[in-house]
Amino acid sequence: MAKHLGGRQRVRTRVALQVVIFVIACLSLGAPVLHEAVAQSGAAPTGSGLGSRHWGTRRVPFVLSMGDNVDGSWKQYVRRAISQWSEADEVDMVLVDGGTTGRTCRPTNGRVEVCNADYGDTGWLGLTRLYYDGDHFTKVTVQFNDYYFNQSGGQYNTRKARVHTACHELGHSLGLPHPPNSSGSCVNDSLDLLEETLTPVRANFEDIADLYDHRDRQQTVNRSRGASAADTSFFAPETLAGTQADGDVQHGVIDTPAGDGSGVLSYVTWVNQP
Ligand SMILES: [Zn+2]
Ligand SMILES: [Zn+2]
Repeated sequence: MAKHLGGRQRVRTRVALQVVIFVIACLSLGAPVLHEAVAQSGAAPTGSGLGSRHWGTRRVPFVLSMGDNVDGSWKQYVRRAISQWSEADEVDMVLVDGGTTGRTCRPTNGRVEVCNADYGDTGWLGLTRLYYDGDHFTKVTVQFNDYYFNQSGGQYNTRKARVHTACHELGHSLGLPHPPNSSGSCVNDSLDLLEETLTPVRANFEDIADLYDHRDRQQTVNRSRGASAADTSFFAPETLAGTQADGDVQHGVIDTPAGDGSGVLSYVTWVNQP
């Protein structure tokens, strides 16, 4: 079907006829064929703004490996978030052996490294860093800062805070931005709703479908070799200067371009300062 459609016919006036034939053929063969053909011919999203970048993949659905660098205090929350996001039709997150340590959380090409440690009084609770090359992510790290989660009697030392934050940051690891309004999703950008927003919502899955309902020529997911995006430290002065511009927002996003089309997108969940 797709071969027929994408074949050697170059005469523009016949395109309309082809579409009619295609639709009739699909109606006779059923919806799955239509979906297949659309997926093959669909164009990649254009632009490289926030929320249009995605993992490059030749196949949809695709497997996204989640490196397990978390200790026992986070395991169940990471597993839960993985199963929540894997309800998306386009992606299956799979927990695999970690490629780094919780403390260093170095990125690995083609996958997500999920980490926890006491990173100190950094001001952030959760941090997702998406290394990109053009429109495609090449490697991602997710970090949970136990300095705040493990504070005795602290506001984040709750089961719900961990459920929310794991769901939130793993959502970012797919390329999901914060929704424009607080939609009831765990990816909402209000910490005030942290205890109430513990799951993805339908709109998140629609966004994932928009991001991934096409096939790329360039494969970045599950690809261990190839050009690696700039390894910009979140704590570098230029990055920290960017964070100050975000001022009072609780969930910030910082784009640190390297100037050659690559760079790092950092989603930061700041702690509520008392
Ligand atoms: Zn693409
Ligand atoms: Zn966020």
